[in-house]
Amino acid sequence: MSNKENEKSPEDALLDTREAVSDDVPPGVDRRSFLMRSAVVGAAAVMTGKVVSARSRTLTAFAESLPEQSAGAAPPLSNDLAVVKKSKGPVLTTIDEFYKVGPGPSSSHTIGPMRITYDFYQRAIKLPPDKLAQATALKVHLFGSLSATGKGHGTERAALAGLVGKEPATVDPLFLDSLRDKPDQTFPVKLGDKTVTVGLKDIIYDATKGDFKHPNTMTAKLMAGDAVLLEQEYYSVGGGFIEWKGYTPPKKNAPKYPFATMKELRAHADNNKLSIAKVMLANEMSIAGRSEEEVYAFVDKIINAMVATVKSGLSMSEDDVLPGPIKLHSKAATVYKRAMDDTYQSDRGIGALSAYALAASEENGRGHLVITAPTGGSAGVMPSLVYGLIENRKLPLQKVREGMLAAAAIGYLCKHHATLSAAEGGCQAEIGVASSMAAALVATANDAESRVVENAAESALEHHLGMTCDPVAGYVQVPCIERCAFGAVKAWTAYAIASNEIASRHRVDLDATIQALAQTAKDMNSKYKETSEAGLALSVVLC
Ligand code: SF4
Repeated sequence: MSNKENEKSPEDALLDTREAVSDDVPPGVDRRSFLMRSAVVGAAAVMTGKVVSARSRTLTAFAESLPEQSAGAAPPLSNDLAVVKKSKGPVLTTIDEFYKVGPGPSSSHTIGPMRITYDFYQRAIKLPPDKLAQATALKVHLFGSLSATGKGHGTERAALAGLVGKEPATVDPLFLDSLRDKPDQTFPVKLGDKTVTVGLKDIIYDATKGDFKHPNTMTAKLMAGDAVLLEQEYYSVGGGFIEWKGYTPPKKNAPKYPFATMKELRAHADNNKLSIAKVMLANEMSIAGRSEEEVYAFVDKIINAMVATVKSGLSMSEDDVLPGPIKLHSKAATVYKRAMDDTYQSDRGIGALSAYALAASEENGRGHLVITAPTGGSAGVMPSLVYGLIENRKLPLQKVREGMLAAAAIGYLCKHHATLSAAEGGCQAEIGVASSMAAALVATANDAESRVVENAAESALEHHLGMTCDPVAGYVQVPCIERCAFGAVKAWTAYAIASNEIASRHRVDLDATIQALAQTAKDMNSKYKETSEAGLALSVVLC
């Protein structure tokens, strides 16, 4: 292409009459109505004097030509959920809400349900003594994706642990293992002067399909015989976040630098000559009312937990077999050994990053403690890069801390405008977001300017769009564990590209890609959203 052609605005499609009507008809759309809509949108643009690209016309025509609701499309989320309403104000998520330590394998199917039943227990014990005296049982019903894939995720064990007063950050993984090994165990639960007995039989796998407010819906009940003393409907909305019927988000202080988009966040950084990490630090301090030391103390705790999960995973024997019917052999130690072998020195970087991600992700598969960044399924991605920056690159801790804050900003924006839940958006919402966060981490830790941080995050997310969630046998192992390795390597690739291009030439901004993530999540067939009803979950036959 000549320089002259290069100067032509790529948005100004009207300069080329061949683009006046897009004849690229997307599948599943009536050709005639699509072409008509495309022509109408183009004509309207000419009449109003607006410049509308062929791509914009195609998208508009596509949207207007679609049938009301595509067959198999996921049911819409309820507008009552805060996770849906939240896109209307500035980002108010804080770092301690976002990075959570808890048992794997899935933040929405283990950490969320455990927090939910723990919350219900706290509500139940506040009932008047005369009511508590009538209590005979505690029951938990799992619906939607929690019911469809909960068995493979150990949701019933997590839910029971919460009922007996265990919290995700402090629960001993051996307690959860013991529930798996001895499923008939029962436990006394004290409710005032009354004690009821609970066991796994009290966690009920209920309907997988229905008109739920969220695909991860559950109810908890305190029973007196057949009568219900207390009942609460809950939603595990992704990344270990929970809501309930009637939920209102907690009141928070105003952020020092309010932003709802990456564009706004970057403007704060650039106008105030701050890094994205410093803007995030100021916001963490103002929203949560914490000192800088307190914010960094929490970030350090998370960094240390990430390093520990990689170390723990690497220390497992090469012969280790993960729990569950897949009988998947651990790979982290073997891949690491080869990466450190001088014979294969040129593969070392990719090999080591992959091994670290496999190590943390296999820990997740074992149901051991992991860190949501943003979820349990994606819990290998960020630790891989954190470990690599600390152990291999030997970067100062402060650089990694700042990277963690910038990575959180990316996760917050994805949560704010799209989703972190595979049950809502497929794997793009888990590994895609994790990879995007990790790219921002690496860029920030390497002192990249704000535009490069955005470009790296954008690139990593862009190349995960459309990725489905189809865990084999409902276990967060295949494709999840290797997928974490790919997410980590893609994050590094995204940084490598972003730091070597002229930043202003990057054509796609992060806000647009997050919008694409949200739209793709809406359009994705519900079979590919953590239900194990399609994709690899169907095509892989376990012998
Ligand atoms: S396929 Fe992706 S989204 Fe689904 S459980 Fe595995 S890691 Fe999570």
